[in-house]
Formats: sequence, structure tokens, C-alpha cells
Amino acid sequence: MHMKKGNAMNVNVKKPLPKVGVASDGRTMHYSVGALVQNENNEYFLMDRKYEPYGFAGMAGHVDAGEYPLQALMREGLEEIGTKLRHVRPVRDVEVPWNHCRNDGVYRVEVHYWYLYSARVNSSDITVSDRETGRWDWFTAEEIQGGRYEREGVQHTLKLEPVWEYWFKKVGIIK
Ligand SMILES: [Zn+2]
Repeated sequence: MHMKKGNAMNVNVKKPLPKVGVASDGRTMHYSVGALVQNENNEYFLMDRKYEPYGFAGMAGHVDAGEYPLQALMREGLEEIGTKLRHVRPVRDVEVPWNHCRNDGVYRVEVHYWYLYSARVNSSDITVSDRETGRWDWFTAEEIQGGRYEREGVQHTLKLEPVWEYWFKKVGIIK
């Protein structure tokens, strides 16, 4: 039931989504949207998350009650990077049974149904909210693959958040 293949365009969500759903194995599930956002140089937007799950992550967030996935994605784009996402295309929609959200002692849901998109922005148009991120930057596929990057002569490690490692591998950007 999960890990359906060949459903890249299967985002014909007929009704707005609830905040909480039921996974194929009966557990409680949230709905997430995210985008592989690229700039004019084909680099990918990633931010170093302040909260669990840690690591570098793409632009993403929960679908709120009553939203459609695309609507949630566009809202998150405005909230997280302060701009309208352009050239938005659906990439995958898959139940991820091991992807939990922030464990802040209040809630922790273990399963997320993801709607992943690709999108474009101009890097000069974005303003990143510091709500979730310490650092953010644009990264080449080579930097993401190598797990390290250099800025102003300083080497840094680039460890992806597990679900983003999954996406970058699944769509073939990294091996
Ligand atoms: Zn969640």
C-alpha cells in the first residue's frame, strides 16, 4: 500500500486533507508537503534544522486541516522562504512510515504521508524565516552528495535530515 511506484503525478487529491489521518498500518499519520527548491544556478535550498529531526532539510511543512497539498506548499513557501514558488511540479507522493515529526514532548507522530514537489525561485527573492533554521544556503548536487561544503574558506559538514536523504536518493540527485 505504501511505497507506491509510478505515481509521480498522483496528486489528484479530491478533498481537502484532515490534520490527522490513519496510516496503512493503523498508526496516526500527518500529511507533509515539501519541495526540492532550486535557484537560477540549479542549486538546492537547504536549511540546517534547529529542531528534531536534525540535519539539512528542504522547504517543508505540515498540511493544515482543510488544506490541499499544493495550497499547503504555497503557504509554506511564503512562510519559510518569503516568496511565491514558481514552476511547481509534483514529484512523488508516498507514505513514509519511519518519518516522525518534532519530538517536543507535546506531540510526536511517527508516520507522514508526503507530497513532494519541485519548484524554482530566484535566490534574490527569498527571505528565510528563522523559525526552524540556524543556517541555510544554496547547495550543488555535488556538495549534497559529498556531505560537505566550503564557504569563505571554511569547511562544513552537510548531513541531510533522514527524510531528505531519502528524497534526494529517491529522485536520483544523489546516490
Ligand atoms: Zn507531523
